[in-house]
Amino acid sequence: MSNRTIQLDDHLYDYLLRHSLREHPAQAALREATRPHPRGGMQISPEQGQFMSLLVKLISARRCIEIGVFTGYSALTVALALPEDGEIIACDISDEYTRIGQPFWRDAGVAHKIKLRLAPAVDTLDELIKTGNAGSFDFAFIDADKVSYPHYLERCYALLRPGGLIAIDNVLWSGAVAKPATDDDTAALQALNSSLHADERFDVSMLPIGDGLTLARKR
Ligand code: SAM
Ligand code: CA
Repeated sequence: MSNRTIQLDDHLYDYLLRHSLREHPAQAALREATRPHPRGGMQISPEQGQFMSLLVKLISARRCIEIGVFTGYSALTVALALPEDGEIIACDISDEYTRIGQPFWRDAGVAHKIKLRLAPAVDTLDELIKTGNAGSFDFAFIDADKVSYPHYLERCYALLRPGGLIAIDNVLWSGAVAKPATDDDTAALQALNSSLHADERFDVSMLPIGDGLTLARKR
């Protein structure tokens, strides 16, 4: 027993999946289809997806934002957790990546909830703010280019209702954030982690799930 977060070796991780993971067949199939992709490591882990889906249900989210779709596993997972009239504005710049996920969104019967916006996410978010959507979203997942995270955070803050939740991915960056930064992505994540720690606009929690996930609840 320990009062520190337990380290997971392969054996224990396998146990965790076997005793907790519940996936829709379309989620499992999309993970399988993404596995051979050269950038397949960008996909969130299935237990992180399941955790996010629980969060979405806990806060009764109806309107969500996703920044960084890739082949669409996290969007699919959130869409499955939303009510029938829920929606997720899914932002990415790659038609090539996002095209891979779309048949799986249809197979799961949730394609109508996922509104894909192929443009730099800052433009999509600014457009949402300009068209009167500030304060109307319940949940946001930030998982695109790391140097833009501060811009995404500010726009998500504007778009969320009080009590809305932002989940920010890769905040532990394979452990690199705890060492002197040697690249822009690491430096950006370090700066974001420090500023969020002190940001009184949010309740925060940094979780060692996946590659590190910070939850920030708009006060
Ligand atoms: N959430 C995804 C999942 O679980 O499968 C993984 C997202 S992947 C880490 C990052 C994605 O961000 C890529 O698909 C990339 O095309 C996208 N991206 C990079 N720069 C972007 C930008 N400026 N605006 C929107 N999306 C961007
Ligand atoms: Ca990620």
